[in-house]
Amino acid sequence: MIVVFLGPPGSGKGTQAQLLAVRLNMVHLSTGDLLRAARAAGTPLGRQVAQYLDAGKLVPDEVVTGLVAERLVPHQDYLLDGFPRTVAQAQKLEELASGIGQEVSSVVLFVVPEEELVRRLMGRGRTDDTPETIRHRLKVYQEETAPLVGFYRQRGILCQVDGVGKVEDIHERLLSVLRIAPQG
Ligand code: AMP
Repeated sequence: MIVVFLGPPGSGKGTQAQLLAVRLNMVHLSTGDLLRAARAAGTPLGRQVAQYLDAGKLVPDEVVTGLVAERLVPHQDYLLDGFPRTVAQAQKLEELASGIGQEVSSVVLFVVPEEELVRRLMGRGRTDDTPETIRHRLKVYQEETAPLVGFYRQRGILCQVDGVGKVEDIHERLLSVLRIAPQG
């Protein structure tokens, strides 16, 4: 089983992915975390991607898909957070998934109004959370990533979750859209 979390920056995908991965015993793969770790470690990859991260631009598809491909192990379940972010990445993911005997089973779209996203991102204090970069990342989301909503809706695997509210309430909503019984 591969579950994809889709949503704009600040929509809470990362927080919810951590909770759900533990709950379902899935491997949580966040391409943003992997890229930031590479930059912090000063690896060749990290140096290559630093300028994209700082500018809030998407890292080239081949780099990101390579990073994901390296981590996929046959028959393991994955929760993908921040990947795919372009239609080309989504197409590549289908290929990678079938290569490990898996398929993308559900895609969860986190719905949060833009003013709330900006408020959250401004409060986060990450190096790519400056006002200018935030605006740019939201624009990149609309242009490059939002088309994935149609891509996955057409495949019949898209569901939505209201991403506004308390972390634990959103977690419950997530369990319910994914039809997972809450822990009793
Ligand atoms: P995130 O932590 O998911 O908000 O990602 C932070 C930054 O990492 C993004 O602004 C991009 O520069 C880069 N990034 C993360 N995931 C991807 C991806 N799937 N494709 C391209 N760039 C990505």
